[in-house]
Amino acid sequence: MISPPRSPLSSALRQFVLKVHSRCNLDCDYCYVYHSADTSWRDKPRIMEAAVAEQVAHRIGEHARAHELPGVRIVLHGGEPLLLGAGRLEELLTVLGRGLAKWAVPVRFSVQTNGVLLTPDILDVLHRYEVAVSVSLDGTRAAHDRHRRFPRGLGSHGQVMAGLARLGAPEHRSLYAGLLCTIDLANDPLDTYEALLASRPPRIDLLLPHGTWDVPPPGLGDRRHRVSSTAPVTAGGVMAHSEETPYADWLRRVFDRWYDASERETGIRLFEELMAGLLGGSVRTESVGLAPATLAVIETDGSIEQSDSLKVAFEGAPETGLDVFRNSLDDVLGQHLFRQRQSGADGLGPTCTRCPLVAVCGGGLFAHRYASGGGFRNPTVYCADLAALILHIRARVRADLAMAAPDLTGGRLGPGSRERPVA
Ligand code: SF4
Repeated sequence: MISPPRSPLSSALRQFVLKVHSRCNLDCDYCYVYHSADTSWRDKPRIMEAAVAEQVAHRIGEHARAHELPGVRIVLHGGEPLLLGAGRLEELLTVLGRGLAKWAVPVRFSVQTNGVLLTPDILDVLHRYEVAVSVSLDGTRAAHDRHRRFPRGLGSHGQVMAGLARLGAPEHRSLYAGLLCTIDLANDPLDTYEALLASRPPRIDLLLPHGTWDVPPPGLGDRRHRVSSTAPVTAGGVMAHSEETPYADWLRRVFDRWYDASERETGIRLFEELMAGLLGGSVRTESVGLAPATLAVIETDGSIEQSDSLKVAFEGAPETGLDVFRNSLDDVLGQHLFRQRQSGADGLGPTCTRCPLVAVCGGGLFAHRYASGGGFRNPTVYCADLAALILHIRARVRADLAMAAPDLTGGRLGPGSRERPVA
């Protein structure tokens, strides 16, 4: 049996998602901010004012100093953060940078944008503050425009590609961090991957659409009857799932294309993290693995929230009741749901803790575990898909390891082995 590492409680926060603009210029139909159970965005100010940003920087600096952090990461987010415009964006970055400098805390800025407003004046500001840029793109024009549209219904693909061209130009290319692509089973996986590669992204995040056991993601159907009886693995380490695994099937095709490429085309975070976990390394993302959550969201009014993805669970799920004017960021660490998100294997339900893949899968994204009645102590609604994907990657890696150095596997890693490393 794999012994999942126990995570220490109350790890410090290291990443801060700042909602600097609470509205968006697109109306993507799958957006969890505007099309989920939680409608709290309606009550938020449109932009984060400088006075709020100053207090945000103070709280982050205070937290980083108290926990002796070597640095922090601030992600400008929304809505659409670039709706701030070049002037306000520069003002905000100046305030944040100055505030953290008072605490001598190094900061890395990044921005998550839909790419439509990557104009020359905004790119100049991002360059001055060395803000890494991630852009949401769903693949081909047809794939992207099916979901990512302007409020009047026009697709945004053309504008996004124009923004990506400006970002990819030699003078700004160093800012280009990568692409975020939400998977749609209606799209061919290889066409999608090829379309994403066109702008030569350093990294791609392939995101599973948000969903819970109550509101399953597209293509998974109603599995509520399985939530407490999900039993992914039998005693011999053989998968016992009977469900179809359309997301694993989709991702397997991309994995094989990416893994078999004669030279590295890009990084794909999900695959790299799963491979790291399979090889016994640490997994550093919230979507898989057992690493403690280290991310907090700060809204335009300074209220402190948990991960945005919790909005898919129920109205108010990310709320903490805390804000940067009255509370320190340490106050977040004491909250029940946050402690559960930080507690690694201890925060999982019995199905996951018995599962031989738990050290790699980690029960999936916290939000995707939700079922009314049982809360978050369930496997992810993607349990069958993640298990199938992990086993596929394990088989590929294991075959390569066996060919490269048969003695490395030493017979311990034969079929059905339940020891670490999983590969
Ligand atoms: S969610 Fe992951 S860890 Fe939990 S039972 Fe499923 S495969 Fe195993």
